[in-house]
Amino acid sequence: MITTANPLRRFHSRKDEILSAINRVLESGEYILGREVKSFEKEFAEWLGISYAVGVGNATDALEISLRALGIEKGDEVITVSHTATATIAAIIAAGAIPVMIDIDEETFTMNPELIEEAITERTRAVIPAHLYGHPADMNAICRIAREKNLKIIEDASQAHGAKINERLAGTIGEIGVFSFYPTKNIASFGDAGMLVTDNPELAKRIEEIRQYGWSSSRISMSFGRNSRMDELHAAILRVMLSHFEEDNSHRQAIAKFYLDALKSLPLKLPKVNAEIQHAWHLYHLHPAFKQFMRAQLPVTEKIANEILSLPIDSSMQDSEAEKVAELISRFF
Ligand SMILES: *Cc1c(COP(=O)(O)O)cnc(C)c1O
Repeated sequence: MITTANPLRRFHSRKDEILSAINRVLESGEYILGREVKSFEKEFAEWLGISYAVGVGNATDALEISLRALGIEKGDEVITVSHTATATIAAIIAAGAIPVMIDIDEETFTMNPELIEEAITERTRAVIPAHLYGHPADMNAICRIAREKNLKIIEDASQAHGAKINERLAGTIGEIGVFSFYPTKNIASFGDAGMLVTDNPELAKRIEEIRQYGWSSSRISMSFGRNSRMDELHAAILRVMLSHFEEDNSHRQAIAKFYLDALKSLPLKLPKVNAEIQHAWHLYHLHPAFKQFMRAQLPVTEKIANEILSLPIDSSMQDSEAEKVAELISRFF
């Protein structure tokens, strides 16, 4: 079966390295926030060219923790898109804030910066653009408005490991960037894990405290925190995956290019050449729980949620499978 992403096959293609990493952790006697997490945080930060990376339990936690670290409080408003993973909205609500959802751009499927200004009220504190399907949001425009209106930016880069905006990597532009390593993501483990990145040392310190009960270095709770730690096992596996990122990424680029070529004559609107096609987490208005937060009409989101088709793309995918997908789509037309 050809699936949108294929974690099992990723395991098989790196089996020896992954099992040896797992063995190393189990034999080390150190299982939570130890050497592997430290090393992975350091390697991930270096790879992004950013000063601090803090590993946590998953990206939903990472989003919630970033809001808390930035001092977002109960009743504060956070502007985001509804065309994102449920997680983005769930995290805002978990932090006690109010999600204000605006519409997306029809070309990139990411936040339409022109709609930010009219969504701002005196309680607006932050903006969370999501770099969806691997396509970065229009960060130049978003940063300009955020600076002018004194809003913090948290980039949800959970679907955009390695995506670039004018040579800057997605996740390194706002105050905080958030990554998920859920099994289907472009850098992934075999379980839950997430990461926050920032260039601000005070924010990094606050994030480290919040991830573990508000502890300062002396294990005394100086503030309120929670438990969202990254496991040594996941960190060790993620170090293997990160070390192969370049080859995995170029393979995905090649599949995307093949699709664009093979499907270009069909009556379909295809993503831009440098965009990656990935699992669609479009969950807009199929979730009755979030309906209470809808303020504005979101016609582009609604149209795209109804019309989008996400094609299988995975670092472990074979050429023959991509050909099969293209052939089935062509036959449909
Ligand atoms: C996957 C995803 C998340 C949530 O990540 P978890 O690690 O599963 O909590 C958040 N935002 C986006 C855009 C995602 O794709």
